Formats: sequence, C-alpha cells, structure tokens
Amino acid sequence: MPNFKCRNTGKKCRFEVEADTEDQVMTAALEHVENEHENGSASPETIKEIRKAIRNERPQR
Ligand SMILES: [Zn+2]
Repeated sequence: MPNFKCRNTGKKCRFEVEADTEDQVMTAALEHVENEHENGSASPETIKEIRKAIRNERPQR
C-alpha cells in the first residue's frame, strides 16, 4: 500500500498516511504539509519531496 511518512522528508514530524492509491496518499500528504509546515501552500520543491517520500509497500505474505 502506498504510504507517506512525514519524517522521510527530513522533518521531525510523526505524521503518517496510508491509502489505496498513490494519488490519495499524495492528496492527504500535501494537505498535511501545507497546513502544518508550509503555511497553506506548498512550493513545487516541496511537492517533489513529498512524491519522493511516498513509498509503495506491498503486504508480505
Ligand atoms: Zn509533518
């Protein structure tokens, strides 16, 4: 499942989100970063960082 951990962008933050699709993770991650770290609007660099930080982990069985 794709997930985003805010600490993977280098921030000391415990926010994590997981969703069915990468787009859903991106939306939630962006909303969090904008509200908590960027005063409402993320720069293109920040958006790139978020995309890089999204991991797609498949359940191990
Ligand atoms: Zn955060």
